[in-house]
Amino acid sequence: MAAGLINHSDVLLHLNEEIKSISYQEKFYELNSTMGNSYLCEVTVVATPLEEVNIHFMPLVSVPDRKLQHTHVTFVRGLLNPVCFGLQAVTDIPELVGTIEDPNLPFSSISILKRYNEKDITYKLFSRKPMTDALLDNIFSMRKDTIRIDWGAYPFYRAPEVFAPFILDGQHLYYVNAFENAASTMETSAVAAENVARLILSRYFSEASLSSSNLRTSTEEVLHVDL
Ligand SMILES: Cc1cc2nc3c(=O)[nH]c(=O)nc-3n(C[C@H](O)[C@H](O)[C@H](O)COP(=O)(O)OP(=O)(O)OC[C@H]3O[C@@H](n4cnc5c(N)ncnc54)[C@H](O)[C@@H]3O)c2cc1C
Repeated sequence: MAAGLINHSDVLLHLNEEIKSISYQEKFYELNSTMGNSYLCEVTVVATPLEEVNIHFMPLVSVPDRKLQHTHVTFVRGLLNPVCFGLQAVTDIPELVGTIEDPNLPFSSISILKRYNEKDITYKLFSRKPMTDALLDNIFSMRKDTIRIDWGAYPFYRAPEVFAPFILDGQHLYYVNAFENAASTMETSAVAAENVARLILSRYFSEASLSSSNLRTSTEEVLHVDL
């Protein structure tokens, strides 16, 4: 779907290019990447949680402190050990094994991602801590391949939530991930992204038409257009 939307739009996509700084200079944001490229943008949207990235903003932007809950994801191609689950045969193990939240339990869930045949399966494990080889050797009777990912999954929620602003600088620097204090899923992030796109359409283009027709008389009027 993402590829379809991008092909349908008249956009230039720079994949695998990390932005290291965003500085505002008279109507333009200058974005500098670690590849040494520089881009001048009238509008800039930050669409990644700011807690764990190292983007330098000039002037500085301020967002409330927020910690991300990390989920360790381990993909294993191999076969589970039924003895570890108190069972006789691997076929007795359910497709999804979930646990209660207990620091003594080494994983939160194990599920089947792909079954090649009865003895060759790819599993997905979620855990609060990294899964060590010793632990995996206990849970699996055979392991062909193991991939570990440490994911900053969602904010560590603490009510009442304090939200970062969606407009970071009062101009045209937007922040989609402010929404994640309400909910952090692909669907809600897509809604937040659409809201930011609508905000840009409303603010940027009304500002352009107001200034071109000399109608911009007061900040109240601009605020009214925002709303
Ligand atoms: C283990 C796990 C399981 C999940 N399961 C589900 C689920 O079942 N259902 C669901 O709805 N949601 C799920 N989520 C949540 C979902 O993945 C996120 O809510 C969603 O991906 C957030 O989208 P995003 O576009 O805001 O951020 P991301 O998907 O994190 O995208 C941010 C992008 O920004 C890029 N980036 C970061 N820094 C820079 C930089 N300096 N310059 C340029 N690019 C940069 C990153 O490389 C990344 O591509 C899960 C999350 C995790 C971690």
